[in-house]
Amino acid sequence: MSTEIRGLNEECGIFGIWNHPSAAQITYYGLHSLQHRGQEGAGIVSTDGVTLKGHRNLGLLADVFKHGELDDLVGKSAIGHVRYATAGGKSLSNVQPFLFHFHNSSLALAHNGNLINAQTLRQELEEEGAIFQTSSDTEVLAHLLKRSQTESFVEDLKVALNKVKGGFAYMLLTENELIAALDPNGFRPLSIGKIGDSYVIASETCAFDTVGAEFVRDVEPGELIIIDDDGLHIEKFTEDVKHSICSMEYVYFARPDSNIAGINVHSARKRMGKRLAKEAFVEADVVTGVPDSSISAAIGYAEETGIPYELGLIKNRYVARTFIEPSQELREQGVKMKLSAVRGVVEGKRVVMIDDSIVRGTTSRRIVQLLREAGAAEVHVRIASPPLAFPCFYGIDIQTRSELIAANYSVDEICRIIGADSLTYLSEDGLVEAVGKPYPDEPYGGLCMAYFNGDYPTELFDYEKEYLASLEAESR
Ligand code: SF4
Repeated sequence: MSTEIRGLNEECGIFGIWNHPSAAQITYYGLHSLQHRGQEGAGIVSTDGVTLKGHRNLGLLADVFKHGELDDLVGKSAIGHVRYATAGGKSLSNVQPFLFHFHNSSLALAHNGNLINAQTLRQELEEEGAIFQTSSDTEVLAHLLKRSQTESFVEDLKVALNKVKGGFAYMLLTENELIAALDPNGFRPLSIGKIGDSYVIASETCAFDTVGAEFVRDVEPGELIIIDDDGLHIEKFTEDVKHSICSMEYVYFARPDSNIAGINVHSARKRMGKRLAKEAFVEADVVTGVPDSSISAAIGYAEETGIPYELGLIKNRYVARTFIEPSQELREQGVKMKLSAVRGVVEGKRVVMIDDSIVRGTTSRRIVQLLREAGAAEVHVRIASPPLAFPCFYGIDIQTRSELIAANYSVDEICRIIGADSLTYLSEDGLVEAVGKPYPDEPYGGLCMAYFNGDYPTELFDYEKEYLASLEAESR
């Protein structure tokens, strides 16, 4: 029944710095604060202005660089990447940054997002003789770049960026410059900061606090940020832009201490909780949130209702997120290892359990069960986002729509499946208003809501159209 979306969908973190004596070390610490965006692989490439040198491997950043590999990454500029991947894309050859050596220069490339026309472009390039070394979308840009024949690297890049479609935040490093580019919808966050005279660019602003950088500004959709020894220059590779910031960044992905489009993620989540309280109040004794990403919304719900917020669920910090476990069995095991319900808090109580989203339902069912096993008298589940019912083509790992429980069952059915006494989701308007409409004149205030309502902010290509048509046929 399930229909596979093309292989690689990823949610990653990127970081880069130009002109700092400890470039690789700062990149390491920057990436460390982006580790929540990807735990399956990490890499850093640095340049001393003459050559580019890199190290990358599967695993957490600290494991990838545990044998002093950072010391070899000399030079004043560097870029790095932490990678999240689905099971199919889990191989060293897909870990970034990719390093390409051409006859007279080198290029390192890191990418956060997902291209919607990668398959078509790849096919075209292969027909023209290109040989791909990885299964990643990212390599497509390097091949397009190599084929472009304008008078400068930046112009070649602009031509290539106009051919790739979808969600992308790219970071490129050559011997002469650090370049960042954001897709025309600005799906993924990307910001510029400064440490003294050195510019840094990162997927999230929380990385700036870690490395002691000052926030300068966000990268805007369609922009090319070029940093070299003359400073920072901003160009555009297209004028056809609008904001469609991934709303799931606010709901789940980003760290609460990051700001996206000037909006603090913790504050947005708290407002989601408050709005949820207005939309779906229930008489209860305690409010608890599923750690970590739902704590802010739970605090908001408690504040709005006056029901005390309690730590009803505790997380074991040393187990990776269940979202990355590759199999159902491992996912269930992951929840057991990861969370405990606090008997002293929930026993005999009517509990409101706030979660940020329900993807497959497996985790929610297990958490409800944990609360009941710990003696909760009632468990009311409140979700701080609308039901996830459509596939994401721009970089989030849901391979099949059949995996999305809300695409296949009604809210009442989901409530029964997860074993809750009641279940309510935040409305679409509720989410848009809680985030705070960073771009009030644009659709959904500048957010992408496609995951919830299927309103895709870009044109779709044959592959995606066929996929959506097959889903419609399945549901008839
Ligand atoms: S479809 Fe959903 S997950 Fe994908 S970019 Fe849009 S809001 Fe984000």
